[in-house]
Amino acid sequence: MNHLPDGILQIIPDPLFVFDTNKKLTFMNHAAEALLNTTLDSARGKADTEVIPKELLDLWTARNEKQNEWSVGEQAFRLDFSPLPIELSGQCLVLYLRNITRLKTLARNQNEFTRIVSHDLRSPLTSIQGFASMLESDMVGNLNDKQKHFVSKILSGVGQLTALVDNIQDAGRYDPESGFYEMNRSHCDLDEIVRRIVDNHLMPADKVLTIKVSNGNNVPIINADSNMLERAIINLFDNAIKYTPTGGEVEVSVNCVNEAIVVTVRDSGPGIPPEDQERIFERHVRLVRQEHKKVKGSGLGLFIVRSVARRHGGNAWVTSTVGNGSTFTLSLPLKDENLVVSA
Ligand code: ADP
Repeated sequence: MNHLPDGILQIIPDPLFVFDTNKKLTFMNHAAEALLNTTLDSARGKADTEVIPKELLDLWTARNEKQNEWSVGEQAFRLDFSPLPIELSGQCLVLYLRNITRLKTLARNQNEFTRIVSHDLRSPLTSIQGFASMLESDMVGNLNDKQKHFVSKILSGVGQLTALVDNIQDAGRYDPESGFYEMNRSHCDLDEIVRRIVDNHLMPADKVLTIKVSNGNNVPIINADSNMLERAIINLFDNAIKYTPTGGEVEVSVNCVNEAIVVTVRDSGPGIPPEDQERIFERHVRLVRQEHKKVKGSGLGLFIVRSVARRHGGNAWVTSTVGNGSTFTLSLPLKDENLVVSA
C-alpha cells in the first residue's frame, strides 16, 4: 500500500482523521488535533467512538450528502464523502472535514448587506412612485402629452426597480446551502391574489396586450406564505408581459387539479427552447436572445418562483414551443401543512 508521508497530510489546513478497518485511529493531522484539543500520541489506537464527538460520528456514518455540515463553537465544517482511491479503500477509513467557517461568514455578511440595501432602497422608491403618480392625477394641474409620456416612463422605471429590489430581498431570504426559506404561513386565498395582481398591474406605456384571468370556482383557501406566493405569481406575470411582444395575449389561471392548486401563466410570446427550459429556473440565468435584447432583468425571478413552490412541497416548471408562447405552472399540493386546519 502506498501511504502518503504523514508530513504531507500535516500541511492540510482542514482536520483529517484516518482509521484502520477496525475503526481504530491511526493518524490525525494538526488541524484535527487542534479541533478536538487532543494529540495524535494520546489518541492513536482508540476507537472512533472515543475520539470523534457523537454528533459528528452520526453524520459520518449516515453519509447523507444533504446533511453533511457540522458546527462546533464558531466553526463550521462540511464532511467530505468523496470515495477513497481504490488502493486505499479496503485499508483505511478517512474522515475529512472541510472548514467552511469563512464561507459561511461571507454568505451571512452578503445576505445581511443585501437585506439592508434592499430595505433602504424601498422607502425612496415608494416616495418617487407616490409623487410621480400624483403628477399623473389632476391634483397638480393638467399635463401636456409629452409630460404625461415622461411621467409614465418614470413610473414604469420605478416599477421595474421596485420589482428588482423585491426580488433581491426575497432571494436573500433563501439560504442556497440548505435550500431554506423562512416561512410565514397564514390563510392564503390564491384566487384573490391573482385577481389583485392582474388588477394592479401597470402595463408599459408602449405595449398593448390582451390580459385574461380564468379562475376555477373551487379554489380552496390554503395555509401558505401569501407574500412569497404573491411574489412568485407577480414574477411569472411580469415575465409574461415583459417577454410577450405588443399585440399578444397573457392568461393567468388558478385551478384545483389532482389534489393540488395549480397556477398557470400562459403567454403568446417567443417561447423557450427545450434545452433552456430547466436552466432558466437557476439563480441568475438569463437567456441571450435577439428578441429579448432590450428586456432588463436579474435572472432571479424564476429562481424565486421555483424556490417558493418547493418550499410549499410543490414545484414550478414551463412548457413551451419556440414561436408559440410559454405556459409557466406553479403547483402546490393540497396536503400536510398547506391545508387549513378547521377549528
Ligand atoms: P429575468 O426575467 O430577470 O431575466 P427570470 O428568472 O424571471 O429572470 O427569467 C429567466 C429567463 O427566462 C429570462 O431571462 C428569459 O430569457 C426567460 N423567460 C422567462 N419568462 C419568459 C417568458 N414568459 N417568455 C420567454 N422567455 C422567458
